[in-house]
Amino acid sequence: MKQIKTYHFKLNPTKAQEQTFAQWLGSCRYVYNLCLDYKKQLYTSHRTSINKNDIQKELSAIAKEIAWIGCVHSQTLQEVTDRLFKTYEGFFKQGKGFPKFAKRNQYRSFTFKQGIKIHQGINSIQLPKIGKVNYRKSQPVEGIIKTASIIKEAVGWYIAICCEAAIIPLSSVENTLGLDVGIKSFLVTSDGVVVDNPKHLYHRQYRLRKAQRAVSRKKKGSNNRKKAVQKLARAHQKVKNARKDFHHKLSTQLIRENQTIITENLQIKNMVKNHKLAKSIADAGWYQFIQMLEYKSKWYGRELIKVAANHTSQDCSVCGWRNKELQLKDRSWTCINGHTLKRDLNAAINIRNKGVGHTPSAWEIYSDSGRVAQESHLL
Ligand SMILES: [Zn+2]
Repeated sequence: MKQIKTYHFKLNPTKAQEQTFAQWLGSCRYVYNLCLDYKKQLYTSHRTSINKNDIQKELSAIAKEIAWIGCVHSQTLQEVTDRLFKTYEGFFKQGKGFPKFAKRNQYRSFTFKQGIKIHQGINSIQLPKIGKVNYRKSQPVEGIIKTASIIKEAVGWYIAICCEAAIIPLSSVENTLGLDVGIKSFLVTSDGVVVDNPKHLYHRQYRLRKAQRAVSRKKKGSNNRKKAVQKLARAHQKVKNARKDFHHKLSTQLIRENQTIITENLQIKNMVKNHKLAKSIADAGWYQFIQMLEYKSKWYGRELIKVAANHTSQDCSVCGWRNKELQLKDRSWTCINGHTLKRDLNAAINIRNKGVGHTPSAWEIYSDSGRVAQESHLL
């Protein structure tokens, strides 16, 4: 089985390389807007359309005449038109918005379609027409490199390398695990494990809030405000990176240890409407995490099942009695038959049972996992 895997690395370009990146990015955005304008004009004035091949031919003629467009690698320019036609396709076939002119802060990357080489030993990446660029190696790149995109982030430049690699499924294991979104913690498993957000993430979030306050205190248009805005952007980037790293490690571990993982089919949009939950859901980035579980389960021959979210908190996982009075603030509760339940753990067990499809075995699962003994410590 072959899979596309994307690696993200921070680049450490020289000053000159950074200038080239910025210049190429500007040229690509210009070309994108130019082609969009051209297509629009053709349609409004002549009611005709132009296909991708023809527009690319015209583009290579322009590149020969205009130096600051011609300096960009021809395949990188081609990819700009690929993007434009993809946006058009999204409009016609999927009912997405009509292509818009790209503003400076919206157009943030350009792509190489071939000729990328990685020198793993010396931590540099060879890019066509640009040469060797140093990068911060966090993991080895495996597989055949298909494309590489240079991305401008709030703090510096990053590279996303898409590789095609043969994925070897992991040998199968027995475990089936239910996961519930924790309100205080990141998640709770049906085995009674509570996974908290890592401490360093709290620390970074605290710094982020501080940076946010600093910006609002500074006078608009002042130099100090500019500096504060830059600091805020860096803080945002760091939180984003730290969270992604945490999600990667946790999702890989869960996929390795379990054959089947069952989660709620969360409607993120609906949840964000509920303001009490909004902040914790958005902060926890649950959606990103589920996406990782989803593609990693496919890579490694595991299964991810999503079940309907209704009543998973209200039902007693031991006897099935429904607590209609359960409030969001109730962290633990006792059912009419005297079963004492910890809210998130109870929900995780219900989610697991829904996925497995046989509710009667709830007690078995419950007692098998040794939770009875742990109960006092969990509550
Ligand atoms: Zn009960």
